[in-house]
Amino acid sequence: MRDKFLPFALPDTNEAEVSAVSEVIRSGWLTTGTQVRAFEAAFAKYVGARHAIAVNSCTAAMHLALEALGVKAGDKVITTPYTFAATAEVIRYMGAHPLFVDVRPDTLNIDIDQVSAVLKREHVAAIMPVHIAGEPCDVEALDKVAGGIPIIEDAAHALPTKLRGRNIGSLSRFTCFSFYATKTLSTGEGGMITTDDDAAADRCRIMSLHGISRDAWKRYTAEGSWAYEIIAPGYIYNVTDVAAALGLVQLGKLVSMWKRRVEIAGRFDTAFAARPELQIPARAAGNQHAWHLYMLRVDNERIRGGRDAFAEAMRKRNIGISVHFIPLHIHPYYRDTYGYKPEDFPVAHREYSREISLPIYSRMSDRDVDDVIAAVLETATDLAPP
Ligand SMILES: *Cc1c(COP(=O)(O)O)cnc(C)c1O
Repeated sequence: MRDKFLPFALPDTNEAEVSAVSEVIRSGWLTTGTQVRAFEAAFAKYVGARHAIAVNSCTAAMHLALEALGVKAGDKVITTPYTFAATAEVIRYMGAHPLFVDVRPDTLNIDIDQVSAVLKREHVAAIMPVHIAGEPCDVEALDKVAGGIPIIEDAAHALPTKLRGRNIGSLSRFTCFSFYATKTLSTGEGGMITTDDDAAADRCRIMSLHGISRDAWKRYTAEGSWAYEIIAPGYIYNVTDVAAALGLVQLGKLVSMWKRRVEIAGRFDTAFAARPELQIPARAAGNQHAWHLYMLRVDNERIRGGRDAFAEAMRKRNIGISVHFIPLHIHPYYRDTYGYKPEDFPVAHREYSREISLPIYSRMSDRDVDDVIAAVLETATDLAPP
């Protein structure tokens, strides 16, 4: 057994990030400036979008996208309960209501047939799918059933993800990425909106910085002017040049970091595929999985104490694990506000009860991967029913 705890996630940063950040600090320009513009341009080019707007979180990105669409109080927005707090809370920021639709049992992405059924009886302002773990939701199929209803993708897990060869970030009205500390590209905190819609991009940019008209950030540069106009009560969702410098270095090594996660996922698959008490992550052929998460599922009938005991045993073996996600409809706020019962979204509830996420990040050594595999297999054996 490992004597040293293996963290669940670690950012892949080294001297290149340190020197890029140091340079920004030495420059004397710390907040939004040329580094942010360079990061946005490089990101837009990478995913193949007309516009990329850097913001300080994916949550801010999704909020701005809903705001740009003009979602109003009382509107309904479809999303999945199998996600993090952020995806639904931004809907509530607008005074709108999340309309949860259950997930597919295989990929845990939103069930598009059920979305289609809901759209036959409800008027919906937007649809917010999540690419869970980095496996793409089929947003092209979703777009067909949406019939013009705008899609805002929660792509917090989906960099670099491809749907049938096309980059996530280039497909829907808005795509929102996260650069939180545990994500596949990290600036500590951060996010990005991508869109091809010029007017919406403008609105997001303006609202990300106090609702001040065009290029507010330039007012302290040589070419800027002290004069500005406030066109709406905006937010302070902009990004610092310090974070953007970190992001630029991270973007440059995104593919090499991803390749290492692909290798690790392959080793996990090989080690676990034949064990009847374990289920490896499902994925559709022809897509590219980002492998932000490796979501293993255990058969609660074949593990004494089920997933909870499994998770506890992994911790005791010094392996950092996590569970993704406690479905939103069983949290007190959504349960009490909307009167949900766990069985209202039976697939989300059942799959959550047997999910355990294993460490998967580029800084893991082969030895670390061996240790995770050994801990999983030994735990499964130890907890086998008599
Ligand atoms: C991490 C995460 C977010 C939020 O990202 P922030 O950048 O922290 O706002 C949103 N959705 C999902 C599915 C996430 O995992």
